[in-house]
Amino acid sequence: MNNEYIGYKATFTKKDRRKTILIPWFTDFLSPLIPAIMEVAGYRFVNCPKTSKTSAEIGLKYGNNEVCYPATLVLGDLIAELQTGKYDLNNVAVAITQTGGQCRATNYLSLIKQGLKNAGFEQIPTIAVAFGGRVYQNEQEGFRLPLFKILNIGLNALLFGDMLNQLFSATVVREKERGKSQHFFDAYMEDARKIVLKNKPKRLLKLLENAVADFNSIEIEDKQPEKIGLIGEIFVKYNSYGQAHITDWLRSRGLEVETPPMTTFFMQIFINQTVNKENGVGKTSRFALKLLPLFYRFLNNRLKKFETIALQSRFYMPRESIFEIAAHAKEIIDLSNQFGEGWLIAGETAGFARRNIHRVVCVQPFGCIANHIVAKGIERRLKQFYPEMNLLYLDIDGGMAEVNLHNRLHFLIR
Ligand code: SF4
Repeated sequence: MNNEYIGYKATFTKKDRRKTILIPWFTDFLSPLIPAIMEVAGYRFVNCPKTSKTSAEIGLKYGNNEVCYPATLVLGDLIAELQTGKYDLNNVAVAITQTGGQCRATNYLSLIKQGLKNAGFEQIPTIAVAFGGRVYQNEQEGFRLPLFKILNIGLNALLFGDMLNQLFSATVVREKERGKSQHFFDAYMEDARKIVLKNKPKRLLKLLENAVADFNSIEIEDKQPEKIGLIGEIFVKYNSYGQAHITDWLRSRGLEVETPPMTTFFMQIFINQTVNKENGVGKTSRFALKLLPLFYRFLNNRLKKFETIALQSRFYMPRESIFEIAAHAKEIIDLSNQFGEGWLIAGETAGFARRNIHRVVCVQPFGCIANHIVAKGIERRLKQFYPEMNLLYLDIDGGMAEVNLHNRLHFLIR
């Protein structure tokens, strides 16, 4: 018997550059813009349909059922889409994002490759989209992310999506005519997509102005909904199916769900790099560290421009800076805890407490050791600092009974 290990042979070469590249669905306020950003980069990306029960079932069938839940869903999204028969299998590739951090998000690719093999798609090349430039566990000589080409439009698209999502979240729970906020959200995402395709970042500011005016025009009910915070692992927090639609469930009970903007997740880098350098574990060059404040200034300037517009809306509340979030987090947990959501869980919970939001749901995927440590692991300490805080940790996986989830939420909101 030949026990020789045979690796995944399909690599993304230069001649594959015009192939259709499938990516898993992530979130409603960013995913629709990703193919347009990648078109600017010179690639043809196509979103898989929104994550569904089928994604979970197929992911479990072809993957390893001990990996974290987001990994299962991502694999399921890709294989389900390939199985539709819509694609010429010789002319398609699949891509995922790779964070480069300590958790499994850096190591998904081996799982994806094995899953593709198990499903009979081993001729399909895989791509890791890594914003830091360094790619782990993949050969992809035909794929380079032209960071400088897409930085401006990508950043503006992220800020636009984040702000639109905040407008939507605050208005949808107050609207008199059901569906009005959703209508505006969908229309503005589509307009944003067209602007991103033309690579006109400044137009997104004007578009946000229009969105604020339209959301302000929505007739609202005469009530002040109670707020509830939603934090946790990035994928399950922002992916509707991944979080078992609990945002919708809470809204249907009249609560305003506040989810931290996604920009905060990416801004951790400005703290982490410095902390790692101080701890002697940073790999970032001195030159890059010197550039970091400049990059922060650039990003923060953009953020302020979007925020100034968002402040014209009826409900927008400015967010704490990443430095303030880190300062609160530091009281609870050492900032060297950077796996999963790292110290953000502590900082965001503290932020909610300081804004008098005392009920927070923290969603945790099955199989995610990282977030169990930096979330559940700090519960007692968070309670010491914020005794009024009601924290509900919800474990989410493909086989959970929604009724259990809802029961636990009922206790939180009763
Ligand atoms: S943070 Fe947890 S759930 Fe998310 S990719 Fe990493 S291991 Fe998986």
